[in-house]
Formats: sequence, structure tokens, C-alpha cells
Amino acid sequence: MAPHKSFHVTTFGCQMNEHDSERMKGMLESLGYREAPERAAADLILFNTCSIREKADERFIAHLHEAKHLKRADPTRVIGVGGCWAQSLKDEVFARFPFVDVAFGPGQVHRLAEFLTSDSLSAQGYFEFEGFTGHLPAKRAREFQGWMQISVGCNLRCSYCIVPSTRGREVSRPIDELVAEAEKSAAEGVYELTLLGQNVNSYGRDLRPQPSSFSELLRRLDSIEGLGRIRYTSPHPKDMREDVIRCHAELESLCPHIHLPLQAGSSRVLKEMRRTYDRARYMDRVALIREHVPDVSLTTDIIVGFPGETEAEFRETLEVADEVGFDSAFTFIYSPRRGTEAATFEDRFVPHEVQVERMERLVEVVQRRARERAQRFVGRTVDVLVEGTSRTDPSRLRGRTPHNKVVNFEGLAGPGEVVPVVVTKATSQTLLGEERLLARAG
Ligand code: SF4
Repeated sequence: MAPHKSFHVTTFGCQMNEHDSERMKGMLESLGYREAPERAAADLILFNTCSIREKADERFIAHLHEAKHLKRADPTRVIGVGGCWAQSLKDEVFARFPFVDVAFGPGQVHRLAEFLTSDSLSAQGYFEFEGFTGHLPAKRAREFQGWMQISVGCNLRCSYCIVPSTRGREVSRPIDELVAEAEKSAAEGVYELTLLGQNVNSYGRDLRPQPSSFSELLRRLDSIEGLGRIRYTSPHPKDMREDVIRCHAELESLCPHIHLPLQAGSSRVLKEMRRTYDRARYMDRVALIREHVPDVSLTTDIIVGFPGETEAEFRETLEVADEVGFDSAFTFIYSPRRGTEAATFEDRFVPHEVQVERMERLVEVVQRRARERAQRFVGRTVDVLVEGTSRTDPSRLRGRTPHNKVVNFEGLAGPGEVVPVVVTKATSQTLLGEERLLARAG
């Protein structure tokens, strides 16, 4: 036990990392640690890292050097590095950063407890792929919002992606275990549950003796008392099948928002990316989704300047972004990741200034279409789950609609409440509104 010892966790990257950090904190508190308000006040300094892009590494290493100075000031401090960057380097972490005491991959968070309760003095690395952090207790950032890891790893091999090498092959958690965890979360006050996996809609195929499916899981979670909203990320267009789409049309708690990564509009570039679908298949999925859920919020991921992408092929990305009219999009400039296939396409790298120029044109199209799409909410009363005060105007509240639209509004509600808000204005990013107070007065 470590009475009175404190920890601090810095999280980089995706929602799966946010989930893993909540589990790391829950586990440490169960070991008697308490969370320190800042890194300099902690006995145990932890980083949960991302390795999706070069920039992510550079940003993290700057933080790691600050920890190095803190350890020099107090050598009893323990420094630990978890997540995809640690997994991608394995024991090289200690060779390059000898002041690090423990390093562990995304599936090895539980081994941190072993290290902390052992009297090991030497640096320890844990990099096997087995293990679900979802088994560990969670310290949630907000009591009314929870993550649930339904699977780890990915069986696909997108040529630009490092995830399969840092998170391993796809392994689904048993469906009864997930339903039990969701029931427990709901009993603990979670109203909005987000399901996490690298490729959620291929969930359950690997389960034995009885395979399951993502739609079966969604239907079982929908019947849980107290779970008002279910979200998920990230699905893959190749596995976006009608049974899942029908769930959006039929299930009360499943939110009308689908994040469907496009990555590129050109079928030739999609092939080079090994995305396993082409433009026609993607557009066909969009059409089927809108047929069943006309008012759905569709968001996406797009990579600009993939090696070999021509001006004409980039224009195809602009065409798809314009035609679909996404409610929002995460847009990235391609950067080579060490150890990925696409990183070997040096002879076809697109010059950075061309990538930047294309990114500006794409953002213009995405924002214009998102603004146009958002106008459909003006004048409507939407249910908003209040998350806190607005980041831009502390006199206003901030929350999210079932469509995953951020709303900044005037009102009296508190975090965790779901209130009716009349939308008065819509930008490409957020909605503005006023809480309909009549109900409250009643
Ligand atoms: S689907 Fe592709 S991009 Fe997504 S995690 Fe798997 S390999 Fe990476």
C-alpha cells in the first residue's frame, strides 16, 4: 500500500487513451494513492501517450523532459510512461530516457500496480498485448459520462496507421461482461455511455463458442434502465452494415450521430491506404444511413496529402466533402509514421506547402457545409446534457445534444442535467441557445 502517495497523469491522443487514463487513476486510488493537482506535486508522474503522428511524439517528449528535472530535484519520484508511444519503442524507452522507471503498453495498465507494489528498483517494461483496461476501476472525469471499452486492437492494415502494431489484433470482450459493466455504470450515475474500439462495428465476430455482433450489443444496452444515451467510436465503413444502421432508427438511447472516417475521396488513394472500400462503397453507406436516419449527424476523418495524391485526386476529396455535407470533420495533414508501410513511399511524398494549401481548401469546404447543415437546428428545441460552463463565455453553459452538437446557452441547469434548449443561432462548430425555463418554473 502507498498511503498518502500522490500521482499525476497526463493524457495524450484519442478517447481510448482518455478511457485508459480513467482506469489508471481508478486503479491507483484503489491502491491508496491520491490524485495531485499538478505534476510538480506528485510522487508518481505518469504519461499516457499517443503515437499516431510525429507531432504527438515531439509534444510528449517536451513534457517528459520536464519530468526529468522534477526527478533530478527529488530522486524518490517515480516516472512511468504508458500508451502507444511506449508500446512502439518497448525497452528502447529506457535506453533513450534512462530516468524512466516503468513503461507499459496500452493493454498493460494493470502491470503498473504490480510494479508499484513490488520492491523492484530497476526499470521495468511490460509490452504484451493481453489485457483489457476495462476490467480496472474507473475514476471518471464526469460522473454522468462514461467510456466502455468493447474491444482492443485492429485486424486491418491501413498503410499509414501504427495502431495494429501498438494495440495488436482485434479481441472483443464477452457480451454478458459488457452488459454487466454498463448496468453497473448506469447504477453509478452514468447517463451517457460511449463504446470504444478501434473498429467497433466488427465487434463480437471473434467471440467463442458463440460469436456476437455490434447490433446485438447495442440492442442489449438499449434496454438498460438509466442509460439515456449510447454513443460509439470508431466504426469502419466496410463494416457499417444495415443491422447497425437500423439500430439508429429503432433504439431510443442510441444517439443519431455516426462518425464514419472517409480519409480520402479518391478510390485509387483509398486503395493505397488499404482502406478496403472505395468511393462508391462509402457513398452507398452514407445513402443507406440517411435513408434510415434522415436527420443523422454524420462526422468524419480526412487525411490530406497522402503520398502520391494528385491535384485531381484531392479534388475528389473536396467533391465527397461537398456532396455528403458532414456535420463536422477532423482533418489531418499526412505525416509518415515510423514502421508503417506508407512511410516507405518517400518517392511520392507530397511537398508540405502543397499539403498545407490543400488543407486550407478542404477546411473551407468542410466548414461551409457544416454551417449549412447546422442551420437545421435553428428554431428547434434540443435536449442538452449539460457538461459545465462554456469555454468561451463563462456566463453561459455548455452541453451536448444527441447529435453530438456542442451548445453554448443561457440557463440555470447544472452539470449532468438534461434540459430543453431553444436553438437561436448555428455556426459550423457550435449551436447557441436559451434554456426553456418554463419546465423548471413548473
Ligand atoms: S482501421 Fe485502419 S486506421 Fe483504424 S485503427 Fe485499424 S489500421 Fe488504424
